[in-house]
Amino acid sequence: MSIKIDFETDVLIVGGGPSGATLARLLSKKNKNNILLEKNFNFDKPCGGGIKSQVFREFDIPKDLEKKEIKVFNLKSIKNDISVNLNNSSISIVLRQEFDKKLRDLAQESGSKLLEARFLECFFENDDVISKIKMKNEIIHIRSNYLIGADGVQSTVRKKVFGNNTNALLTNYALIDNKDIDYCDFYFGDDYSPNEYAWIFPHGNKVSVGAVLKNDDAKTVFGKFKDKYYENEKVKGYFIPCWNDDKAFYKNRTFLVGDAAGHVLPFTYEGIYFAIKSAEILSKAIINNEPKMYQELWNKTYLKKFRFFKFMQKVFLRNDFFVNLMLKFFGKEKLQRRALSYWNGSSQPISNKKILFKIFTLFFRK
Ligand SMILES: Cc1cc2nc3c(=O)[nH]c(=O)nc-3n(C[C@H](O)[C@H](O)[C@H](O)COP(=O)(O)OP(=O)(O)OC[C@H]3O[C@@H](n4cnc5c(N)ncnc54)[C@H](O)[C@@H]3O)c2cc1C
Repeated sequence: MSIKIDFETDVLIVGGGPSGATLARLLSKKNKNNILLEKNFNFDKPCGGGIKSQVFREFDIPKDLEKKEIKVFNLKSIKNDISVNLNNSSISIVLRQEFDKKLRDLAQESGSKLLEARFLECFFENDDVISKIKMKNEIIHIRSNYLIGADGVQSTVRKKVFGNNTNALLTNYALIDNKDIDYCDFYFGDDYSPNEYAWIFPHGNKVSVGAVLKNDDAKTVFGKFKDKYYENEKVKGYFIPCWNDDKAFYKNRTFLVGDAAGHVLPFTYEGIYFAIKSAEILSKAIINNEPKMYQELWNKTYLKKFRFFKFMQKVFLRNDFFVNLMLKFFGKEKLQRRALSYWNGSSQPISNKKILFKIFTLFFRK
């Protein structure tokens, strides 16, 4: 039985979040024909919305999407409470519904075709991918040269093509109405979020409270944490990728990017910035028609950094003793500056063992 093809394109991108919308925009800027699918144009991704402010400059994104600029954040444990001055770098708070929509609009303005439709499944024919899509109540088919899974942590593209899911953890999250704060707090330790962290961020005229959690006990922990600061808000659980270097980049003319590929920085759980940056790397591989280039370039740019943050998380978020040690380290200006330089990319981490040695020697030196 021959299938009626409704649209043909070089690249079909599934998911209009930061990774998919950025990829579409960058491909269009290079005149690479693409279709961007988003299943819900009004989707408001549950998210703290914290992103490195440099993203606006790097990707020419309108600065009015920044709802708050955070220049100082607080790190807290049961024993310590320290402020970290971000100096030249800062964190911006964005509202995801508005932010993602703008990124999709920018893609469309650059030439991408934008469809509100849901990817269902795909199959392969010679050098092409045929995708089955639900648009309104109709089933349509799109033929493309490449298929992109930018459809988030529970990626359907990944399930259908790679046959597995993104490694993920549950995040408990609540929005508190009618609160306006100007700071970001990060809470560490067993009372707040064992081996991970909890946060309180501004969110427009609301506040977002959340914690990355490992098991059911942690749910109780989050309840106590939230109730300590805010009452009666509805808590919901959402998945967030837990990066494990599973090398899910490319298979059968299909690429994964952003949460679908697990590209969330360990320890900090920053996913928006790395979704956008990974999309930039992928756009280069597609423009050059060199699928292997994606993984090679990503590894060259980020593998060391991701491994470093994973290692630091293992060492310092192990238990309350190490958490308090970490915050003591952060109390030292020199160590604080060094840690920030690894985070904002102004310097590259050296080997994990060497870095631990350096931290300890700097700490004990007068
Ligand atoms: C509670 C919580 C708080 C977070 N806080 C932060 C934070 O403060 N800072 C930060 O950097 N990161 C944060 N993250 C992580 C961040 O949200 C993600 O890493 C980021 O959104 C990844 O972008 P993406 O484009 O890859 O995927 P997504 O943003 O998930 O976008 C995927 C898109 O695909 C669409 N889609 C899904 N399936 C289909 C389909 N079948 N067909 C068509 N479209 C589809 C979805 O509607 C969605 O718009 C948080 C995550 C959670 C859960």
